[in-house]
Amino acid sequence: MTSPESPAPDDASREAQTEPTGPTFADLGLDGAVLQALDDVGYETPSAIQAATIPPLLAGRDVVGLAQTGTGKTAAFALPILARLDVARAVPQALVLAPTRELALQVCEAFEKYASRMPGVHVLPVYGGQGYGVQLSALRRGVHIVVGTPGRVIDHLDKGTLDLSELTHLVLDEADEMLKMGFAEDVETILAETPADKQVALFSATMPAAIRRISQQHLNVPEEITVKAKTQTSANITQRYLVVSYAQKVDALTRILEVENFEAMIIFVRTKNATEDLAEKLRARGYSAAAISGDVAQAQRERTVGQLKSGALDILVATDVAARGLDVDRISHVLNFDIPTDSEPYVHRIGRTGRAGRTGDAISFVTPRERGLLRRIEKATRQPMTEMQLPSVEDVNVTRLARFDDRITAALEQSDRISAFRDIVGHYVRHHDVPEADVAAALAVVAQGDSHLLLEPEPERPARRERADRGDGDRPERGPRTRRGPGVGMATYRIAVGKKHRVEPRQIVGALANEGGLQRDDFGAINIFPGFSLVELPEDLGADVQDRLADTRISGKLIELRLDTGAPGHGGARGDRPRRDDRPRRDDRPRGKGGHDDRPGRKPRHKKY
Ligand code: AMP
Repeated sequence: MTSPESPAPDDASREAQTEPTGPTFADLGLDGAVLQALDDVGYETPSAIQAATIPPLLAGRDVVGLAQTGTGKTAAFALPILARLDVARAVPQALVLAPTRELALQVCEAFEKYASRMPGVHVLPVYGGQGYGVQLSALRRGVHIVVGTPGRVIDHLDKGTLDLSELTHLVLDEADEMLKMGFAEDVETILAETPADKQVALFSATMPAAIRRISQQHLNVPEEITVKAKTQTSANITQRYLVVSYAQKVDALTRILEVENFEAMIIFVRTKNATEDLAEKLRARGYSAAAISGDVAQAQRERTVGQLKSGALDILVATDVAARGLDVDRISHVLNFDIPTDSEPYVHRIGRTGRAGRTGDAISFVTPRERGLLRRIEKATRQPMTEMQLPSVEDVNVTRLARFDDRITAALEQSDRISAFRDIVGHYVRHHDVPEADVAAALAVVAQGDSHLLLEPEPERPARRERADRGDGDRPERGPRTRRGPGVGMATYRIAVGKKHRVEPRQIVGALANEGGLQRDDFGAINIFPGFSLVELPEDLGADVQDRLADTRISGKLIELRLDTGAPGHGGARGDRPRRDDRPRRDDRPRGKGGHDDRPGRKPRHKKY
């Protein structure tokens, strides 16, 4: 028996020893409460940008980091700030400037997560569109870290409500985006109003001349960090990606498991906690799945890998660390449920398939915001990935019918049992005057039990243009920055709470995120009106999420989430939101894995089977 980190002299462990293990968070100089919080959130190892950036930041140096969303850049700057924070002094010691409200909220949430073991640390988001009241009272009470959009930060500086005289850390996050959005002058003004001896960290996905100029003028001999990428991926591995919102990932995965012809699959997630979570969800849907992470005891890991090798187990949900060096020929598919933070872990991950001269398949889930990271990985590996579509209900049903046929064929091969049952069926036909085909169909019903063989067709959704073409109703005028229409894969939803219920965007994000399992990445613009609010969310929220949100309340009021059609003052036509009974049933998932030829041309007719 072998394991990824076993010292036994087999192939897997030989490879494990040659693959770099990299530093731990403690090796980077982090300790105490920050380290504990990282263990709570389940990060096992620093991402490449974190490994390169945290030590110089802890040493007090300025840093310019070339990094995109998805690389772990937020923790790269947040952790050293928290490690160096003086909690006893409740004055703004760190300011993070971000181009959008969504990013500012996301960064705030990250700080709060990493500061969970540091009682008394206050982080405040400040962004346009939110009333000044909340921000002012929080500022008066005292905050340590301010995360804001440049425009609103300038407003506070002008009003004298934000004092940056004690600032020790300044971060420019997504600096190139801030310039693109016309914030160059605001950023310069803010920089000029902060103490000269502060530490500055600048993060940007690209390095245009304007950013270089800011860096030269305002940063003190910065350490420039670009993470070098390992470049080879094996040519025998087909690489695809699916753009999917965070909330839709589990549904997307179950469809893929149904239609992909896989022998064994490793599903990669980012955190230790997510391994068990996802394995549990898959088991609940009838798949044999196990989780391994750095936290699972060695003996248990060896057992699990042994089961994967023998075929007793088909799906392993793993973190990078746990799967390091794993060498199992049966692994036909690697699925990146969370895209890795960089090209190097990507190359390691997909190298778990296509072993022993076989071909392999790699599928990566990419949220709309992570597209930049995808491009970066493609560039580093010099291999473009092919975009795939979410398998449709029809794709799933074609596979289910093929699998049903296969079961009949396999049963027919058991000739002894067939001939015994033939007598029973013949007896029934003679005594009940029923055609044999009907008896066969009745037996299929018996075999199928209460679950349905096929998924129900997806409800028709109104075309995007139709949804966009709507009256103004009681909406306020919107400037170009607040109202550009939902982005790709996003749709506008209406909830029945608004200004008169005293809701703030944070409450909306908090409630939908906590109850619907949505992530910050899933939120677009939020517009609050007197009686309702409009929230941009992923177009296909998934049945699970809609079910969970059906009972959600904000300020004690049911939110009645529905797709917005723009009908003035109302929630729009009822038919816009998939009716509950139109959604695919959850309880009719097949047991076991997919793996059947899909037969072109075979279209399931939509009857009840
Ligand atoms: P960011 O690039 O900062 O937007 O981070 C992208 C995602 O990676 C976030 O969901 C983080 O929680 C996650 N993340 C950041 N660092 C790590 C790490 N070292 N291990 C696992 N996940 C991480």
